Amino acid sequence: MRQVLWTVGAGVLGVAAAVSAAASGDAPSPPMLGFSAAAAQRQALLEQRFDAQLSPADLRAWLRRMSSAPNQVGSKHDQVNAEWMLSQFKSWGWDAHLETFYVLYPTPKSETLEMVAPTAFKAALREPPVPGDRTSTAAGALPPYNVYGGDGDVTGELVYVNYGMPDDYKMLARLGVSVKGRIAVARYGGGWRGLKPELAQQHGAIGCIIYSDPKDDGYWRGDAYPKGGWRPAAGVQRGSVEKMEVYPGDPLTPGIGATKDAKRLPLNEVKNILKIPVLPISAADARPLLAALGGPVAPEGWRGALPITYHVGAGPARVHLAVASDWSRKPIYDVIARIEGGTYPDQWVIRGNHHDGWTFGAWDPLAGNIALLAEAKAIGGLLKTGWRPKRTLIYASWDAEEPGLIGSTEWTEEHAAELKKHAVLYVNSDTNARGFLDAGGSHALQALVNQVAAGITDPEMGVSVRRRLRARLEVNGFEKGAKDEAKRLAKIAATGGDLPLAALGSGSDYSSFLQHLGITTLSLEYGGEDDDAGIYHSRYDSFDHYLRFGDPDFAYGVTLAKTAGHTMLRVADADVLPLRFAAVAEAIGRYVKELHQLADRERGRSQTLETLLDADAFRLATDPTRPVGPPARESAVPYLNLSPLDNALVRLKRSAAAYDRAYDEAATAGLDVPKARLDDLLRGMEQTLLDAGGLPGRPWFEHLIYAPGRYTGYGVKTLPAVRETIEQRLWSQADRYSTVTAEAIDRYSDRLDQAARLLRR
Ligand SMILES: [Zn+2]
Repeated sequence: MRQVLWTVGAGVLGVAAAVSAAASGDAPSPPMLGFSAAAAQRQALLEQRFDAQLSPADLRAWLRRMSSAPNQVGSKHDQVNAEWMLSQFKSWGWDAHLETFYVLYPTPKSETLEMVAPTAFKAALREPPVPGDRTSTAAGALPPYNVYGGDGDVTGELVYVNYGMPDDYKMLARLGVSVKGRIAVARYGGGWRGLKPELAQQHGAIGCIIYSDPKDDGYWRGDAYPKGGWRPAAGVQRGSVEKMEVYPGDPLTPGIGATKDAKRLPLNEVKNILKIPVLPISAADARPLLAALGGPVAPEGWRGALPITYHVGAGPARVHLAVASDWSRKPIYDVIARIEGGTYPDQWVIRGNHHDGWTFGAWDPLAGNIALLAEAKAIGGLLKTGWRPKRTLIYASWDAEEPGLIGSTEWTEEHAAELKKHAVLYVNSDTNARGFLDAGGSHALQALVNQVAAGITDPEMGVSVRRRLRARLEVNGFEKGAKDEAKRLAKIAATGGDLPLAALGSGSDYSSFLQHLGITTLSLEYGGEDDDAGIYHSRYDSFDHYLRFGDPDFAYGVTLAKTAGHTMLRVADADVLPLRFAAVAEAIGRYVKELHQLADRERGRSQTLETLLDADAFRLATDPTRPVGPPARESAVPYLNLSPLDNALVRLKRSAAAYDRAYDEAATAGLDVPKARLDDLLRGMEQTLLDAGGLPGRPWFEHLIYAPGRYTGYGVKTLPAVRETIEQRLWSQADRYSTVTAEAIDRYSDRLDQAARLLRR
C-alpha cells in the first residue's frame, strides 16, 4: 500500500521547460544541520563513499529474484525472500534475525459471483496471462479477494453506489434508492477501499462488490497493459478492507505483539473486521452486471468509461455473492538488522519497507525494498573501512503490510516500551519509480529533508531533486484550475524557501511508529512519471511491467537509496539531532486556522436532517454498542472555544523560533553544547503530542496532530480529535479536545524551552 503525498500532475515537458527557464536557482544550503563545521565535512565525504557503492545492477537483480514468484503473506516465496534477506544482511556485516508473529490472515477457500436475473452471467474472478509478462503464467497466487471481508452467501438486488463514499450515500438518498437488504457495487477510487464495504454495511447492505472502472485506471487513462501500463479489462485490484482507521495490525491482538502465546480476542469481539462478504472484480466482470441495472440514470459524476448507460438500480439485476475463507493464523517474518552505535548505542535510527506483495509485488513493495537493501549493503561497506555510526541503526523489512500494516504494527507493539525510550527516527518507503521526490512526515524533519534533497542530483534532469520538485510545484500552481493547496505550494516553491513536508495519514508502515508511539517519522518515495495505477495490487504488478513503466535503469532506485541513506546517516552521526521547529509551528498554525474556518462553516449550517444523520453515523461508527435510534439533538447555537489552541500556538511559535535561534548561535560557535542531555530532550519530543486516551472512538491512535481520517481512510486529518468532532457537530467533545490538544502543544513547547536553555548555556 502507499499514499501519494505531494500531489503532482504536470507533464514532464512542462517541468523540463520550467527547470531550464527558471531564473532563480535553489537557495544555497545552510550549514549541515546537527553537525559542527569540521564534522560536516567528514559527513559529506562519508556520503560520497556511501553513494559510490550503490549499484543499479544490484537493484535489478534483487528485484528480479524477489518478484519471481507470488510473495503474499503465508506463501513459500514470501518466507524465502525473508530468509534470503536475512543472509544478505549478515553477509554485509549486520547483526540480523527474523522476528516471527502469528496473525489472523484469512485466505479465500471459495468465491462465487453470478447474476441470476434478469439474465444469467457468471463472473470469471481471475486474471489471465498477458503476452510478454513472464510471471503472469506462474502458479501460486491467491485469487483476487479483499482480505478481512466477512464470510457469507447472499443473493439480492444490485445497487450502484459510485465510489461508495459518504457523499454518494447522500446522493442515493436524494434519488430515493437504498442499499438496505441489497448488494452494493462500488467502483475503486474516491477514497479508501475499506470504507466502501464498511459504509455499505452501515447502510444495511448484505454484500459489497468493488470493481475497477476503466475511467479511473484503465484504457480511458492510457493504453492498457501490455501495450501501455494501464489496467487491462480483466485486471483486479486486491486489497485489505480491515478497518485500519480503528486500529491496524493483527485484528486479534490490538495494542500488543502477536507472539505465539499472546492473549487473543475471540473473533466475534474483533472491532476492525467486517461482517458482510466483499469481492473485488475486474471491469470485464462488472460490465454485464452494471449493464443490467435499471432505475435512475446515474448522475454525471458517477459515470465511468464502460460503453453502457450507467444506472443506479436497485435491480432488476439480482446477484448471488458467496465468499468463504480459511480463518487460520499464519506466521509472518519481519527481517530485523542492526548495527550498534559507537557513541549513543541507546539511540535508535530505524528504516523500514515491507516485503510482502499481493502477487509478485515488483512495484509495491519491492521497488522500495531494493533501495533499502542497497543502503544496507553500502552501510556494510562503510563498516568494513572502520567507520561505525554514532547512534544505532536498525533496518527492517516488514512482512504482512498489505493485509493491515501487520508486520510493522506487531513489532512496534511488541517493543513499544523500548522504542518509546530509544527510537529517534523512523524512515519508511513502500513503492518507488521515476519522477519526483514525494516526502511526508513530522515537520521537525522538514529542514533536514530539504538539506538532504538539495544534495542529491536527479538522474534525468541533472539538477537537485529539490530543484526539480520546486519547478514542478511552481508549474502545478500556475496551471488553470489549480487547487488552493497547489497554489500555496507553488507560492512557497517560488520564494526559494524550504519545501513543505506533507502531513501523514496512513496506508503504509509508518502508522504505528508515528500515530501509536509518537516517534519522529518520515516517508519517502519517488514517482509521478510512471504508469502504475493500472496494475496496483494485481497479478500484473510484475518485474516485466516495472522494467517498462517503472524505473527501467533503476536510476531512481539508486536515488531513493541516496535520499533515505543520507537521511539515516545524518541522523545517526549528527553531533546534535538535526531537528528544527519553525516548520512545526507553521504547520500547526495552518491547521488551527483551518479549524476556525471549519467551525465557522459548521456553526452556520442549519440543523438539517442531513447534518443530524451525519452526526448519528459518526456516533454509530465510533461507538458500535450504541443502539440505533433517532439522532440526539444538539443545541442550535453550539458553544465551542478554540482559544486554548490559539494560545498554545502563540507560545509554540515563540518557543520554536527561540530554539532555532539558539541552535544557530550554538552551531556558529562550534556546537559546544551538552549533547547527550540535549538529545534526551529532543528524542522524546514527538511523544509529548500523544494522548494516552487516543482519538474519539479509536484509542489506538494517540497522536493529536496527525491521523488517518475516520471517513477518509488513508487521507490525513490534522488535529484530528478536534477536527472530526467539529465535522460531526459534537460540540462539547470538540471543546474538550481543543483543551486536550492545546495541552499537548504546550508540553511540546515546554520541551523546546528546556532544550533552548541547554543550547544557550
Ligand atoms: Zn506497499
